Amino acid sequence: MAPPLAPDRAGGRAQPPRRHYGWGILNREIVPPPQHLFPPDEWRIVEARWTPEFSDRTETAFALSNGYIGVRGALEEGRPSLDPGTFINGFHETWPIVHAEAAYGLARTGQTICNVPDALVLELMVDDEPLFLPTARLREYARVLDMRNGVLQRDIAWSTAGGKHVTVHSCRLVSLEHRHLVAVEYEVTVDRASPVSVVSRTVNRIDRPPSRRRNRQDARLGRQLDHRVLNGQLAEDRDGRAVLAYETTNSKMTLAMGIEHVVETANRYEMTSSVTPDLSEVVITAEAEPGVPIRIVKYAAYQTSRAVPSRDLVPRCERTLDRAVRGGFKMLADAQRAHLERFWSRADVVIADPVNGVRAQQAVRWNLFQLAQATWRAEGAGVPAKGLTSGAYDGHYFWDTEAYVLPFLAYTQPRIARNMLRFRHSMLDQARERARVLELSGALFPWRTINGDEASALFQAGTAQFHINADVAYALRRYVDVRGDPDFLLEVGAEVLVETARMWESLGFYGSDGCFHIHGVTGPDEYTTVVNDNAFTNLMARLNLNYAAHAVRSIEAEHPAAHAALCYSLGLTPSEPGAWEKAAAAMYIPYDESRGITPQDDSFLEREVWNLDATPPERFPLLNHFHPLVIYRHQVLKQADVVMAMFLLGNEFTPEEKARNFAYYDALTTGDSSLSASIQSIVASEIGDEERAVEHFRFALLMDLADIAGNVSDGVHVASAAGAWMALVFGFGGVRDFDGQLRIDPALPRRYDGLEFPLRFHDRQIRVALTHEDERYTLDEGEPLEVTIRGEAHLLVPGSTLRLPPKPRSPQGA
Ligand code: BGC
Repeated sequence: MAPPLAPDRAGGRAQPPRRHYGWGILNREIVPPPQHLFPPDEWRIVEARWTPEFSDRTETAFALSNGYIGVRGALEEGRPSLDPGTFINGFHETWPIVHAEAAYGLARTGQTICNVPDALVLELMVDDEPLFLPTARLREYARVLDMRNGVLQRDIAWSTAGGKHVTVHSCRLVSLEHRHLVAVEYEVTVDRASPVSVVSRTVNRIDRPPSRRRNRQDARLGRQLDHRVLNGQLAEDRDGRAVLAYETTNSKMTLAMGIEHVVETANRYEMTSSVTPDLSEVVITAEAEPGVPIRIVKYAAYQTSRAVPSRDLVPRCERTLDRAVRGGFKMLADAQRAHLERFWSRADVVIADPVNGVRAQQAVRWNLFQLAQATWRAEGAGVPAKGLTSGAYDGHYFWDTEAYVLPFLAYTQPRIARNMLRFRHSMLDQARERARVLELSGALFPWRTINGDEASALFQAGTAQFHINADVAYALRRYVDVRGDPDFLLEVGAEVLVETARMWESLGFYGSDGCFHIHGVTGPDEYTTVVNDNAFTNLMARLNLNYAAHAVRSIEAEHPAAHAALCYSLGLTPSEPGAWEKAAAAMYIPYDESRGITPQDDSFLEREVWNLDATPPERFPLLNHFHPLVIYRHQVLKQADVVMAMFLLGNEFTPEEKARNFAYYDALTTGDSSLSASIQSIVASEIGDEERAVEHFRFALLMDLADIAGNVSDGVHVASAAGAWMALVFGFGGVRDFDGQLRIDPALPRRYDGLEFPLRFHDRQIRVALTHEDERYTLDEGEPLEVTIRGEAHLLVPGSTLRLPPKPRSPQGA
């Protein structure tokens, strides 16, 4: 069936914005969750009653992670569960991609993050009666994600069939201090003497038959592997400590685990254990006296490697366990809080929303907490699109890391930002090889990957997104400028810039018009593919080329020895920077004079306009309901493209162009990608469209907690979480850093009473507090700094607050 089409609107000037969200899954209405789920609370996410129909939300909302290990928020008992999962960043299996029609250079090897053995299962039996939800005899239930303490706690009061009252308290954490450690504290108390057993399991789920829901037809889900993935190489009980070691079948990655239980109780108890690669069990059986608790702490350590044999990883796990057991659970919990105090002191954003009250603050913090969880201990790895909260998108790293997460890190945790960029640099050799396969010079980073090789089978919406190179270059520049760390260019940055610039110069060509054109590419909007002169790509390539030339020239001037080394190691010739500058200066940027807008690419405006008004809600997202070719031949956007360019390169568009482009593209954007709403919000803020700015911001903010995209079960939309921060700080806060200068031009929507956020810039700690009465800018730490606020230079000095009146507003935005 052909999609419903509107009469061609392409002839007129930009259309006024129309309401768009309203057509997606769930009609994109923001439906608040029921009372018992996530009630308003500034620092906690609470589930006050267990209802299986909301497991999709809770397993994701209660996922814990430190950026290296992630565990989904499945119940302690391990079931009932929609999709339990434990993931280690970068630990993946490979598999042959079977193309029905192969072609030269297509990605041949898929990469899928592994669901590693789950160590958090604890089953309870009192009088031989198991505690399983749902049970009619559950008297109290509460699960709480505490975002200051970094723990997930559950408290249950349950009556057995025999009328005994049992209380169960559990508390789990993925350690921010010990990167390789997960721990759970489990405490059971009975009111009458009873035999109590706790069966503590470690379950290899990836090699079990697939669960029902994982068979869903959605390309965005991770691949269901049908071969044995984890081959046991060691399964031993060493004095009550289980040690396990595995190797994956194809990727030959190695994994080791160590699991230890510490039991504290005044009751008589005994412990038995059995250890196998697929299922290990420790059974703790106690004769529980009334009111005498049985407290079990289970510690699990994970180590993975691409090179070290699995058995050699075991001692590392043992050392982690030794440390954890010696310190005890409380010490881990204290460290957790200390890490999060550091995080919040640099990242907390406070919003005063008189309409939604505490709910808005809670959602802001939940999104920020997701960013902490996705990045805190991710050293040596990237940030998967879903963090470590699910296996969706196969655990791959995309441009999400550089374009969405990195800005947040640059302004709050620059050390982590630098690690992310170093990790990208570590993929350079494979990127060089990939460029060679595509007949290009320099390096081409993979569109999606774990191990550095391109894993995107659908090249049209994958490898063709050459803009990944420029996204990396942009992120580099932002990090260097925001932190004030030009030496990073010497360390790894210049190498990345040279190789990415070389790629652009070889990809593009000089046309008969004398302009530099880039053909056969896909921009960020994956609903239009393999086109010529995508505006976003050309603009970003121009930046990449110029910045590479600038970096090489300044290294040459200031660090001649480093420059000589660079020339030697990269074979860099004196003429190259000039050639990049020439290509940049000649770069063709499409512009449509009659409409006064930037066409998304050279033929976009000639396409038929998709009529979103007439598309039934159940046919969103379009990618799951229309053949790609149907989508590709229309003017319809999955996500911000020109609008993304206007955000990243806002200094290259006039305010009028921004307003016209926004009006045109906003009306064609489905928001089928969760990466879109935040960017639309930022640009709406900038052009003074307060209503749209707030509306889009709320979609980004509530993407997961209100399940706006309808797929929260598949994990946290990390880029959207970072986008929510960007919409607050870059959108309402008006922060920009185009030329390495900090510029602030706030636009606090009338809908909110206040907004306060910290910024780290050049080793200074700045606090911005906005209300409709005044704006305060405080330098909490560091040397005096000049900041441009609404176009005027102001000097921030330590210990004193600069107060300014807010920007006068036009009445219509009210
Ligand atoms: C978006 C990409 C994004 C990817 C991973 C896709 O749906 O179109 O821009 O990188 O999801 O989040």
